[in-house]
Amino acid sequence: MRNFSENCACLALNTATLGHILEGKGAGWQPERVIDACAERGFGGIVFWKRELGGRAFEIGERTRAAGMEVTGLCRSPFLVGPLASPALAETVDEFNSLIDTAAELGAKAVTVVVGGVVAGSHSMAESLRTATEILSKIAPYAERNGVRLALEPLHPVYGGDRSCLVTVRDAAKMCREIGSSNIGIAIDVYHVWWDLSLEEQLSNAGDVQILGYHLCDWLADTKDMLLDRGMMGDGVADLRNIRRTVEGAGFDGLCEVEIFSDKNWWKKDPDYVLDTIMQRFKSVC
Ligand code: ZN
Repeated sequence: MRNFSENCACLALNTATLGHILEGKGAGWQPERVIDACAERGFGGIVFWKRELGGRAFEIGERTRAAGMEVTGLCRSPFLVGPLASPALAETVDEFNSLIDTAAELGAKAVTVVVGGVVAGSHSMAESLRTATEILSKIAPYAERNGVRLALEPLHPVYGGDRSCLVTVRDAAKMCREIGSSNIGIAIDVYHVWWDLSLEEQLSNAGDVQILGYHLCDWLADTKDMLLDRGMMGDGVADLRNIRRTVEGAGFDGLCEVEIFSDKNWWKKDPDYVLDTIMQRFKSVC
């Protein structure tokens, strides 16, 4: 298991943690300011959201690398199935392809894929997963041609209905195998897997499926909002060290991405304070 107690070179910031860096959201910092603030603290990378880039993906990617960091990822895919997906498949595919283009311009190491919820009227996780797999199979070759990796993120089952019928590492690994592209893998997010005592077994059964991302936050014991009340590492009940040990034991050696959606707490705080807290917690409890 890697030792993070001395530096933050293996730490990446997901900009959602600062309330997204958009006018009117969070502190509204520009990407350049986020890049400088992370570089000053010795972070290893940044994960952006497409809407924050304002058509300047190439420039922002270059700026990040010039500051000594990598662009760890780009968020996130459109929902492929379920109530939040576009009813027009062509629209979903176009949107996804455009995200892939942006990831290539940005030089992002991976795109996060969230597949969407249960197909209306199907009453079936299995059927919804099959449909999502079919759609992703059509998109994966375009990503592969553009050198973009796709990280399938299983979400906590509480989102099963609307945001993700993909709720286990087991099913994510199965989806990767069914699609069979060399550029597809999984992302493990503490928020979604912290409760799952079979994580190690599922990762072991996943065999050579690549782990393309590891996302950090914490699960607050008194969570008030399933989407927007994530905790800072160390403030909740997740066994962070043990989860990382498990994920690294399965071969993950990339950057750890801090992703905290917290509209009532962390998004209201000064970003410098948030970044300093992340650093301190990363070194001491992750
Ligand atoms: Zn995540």
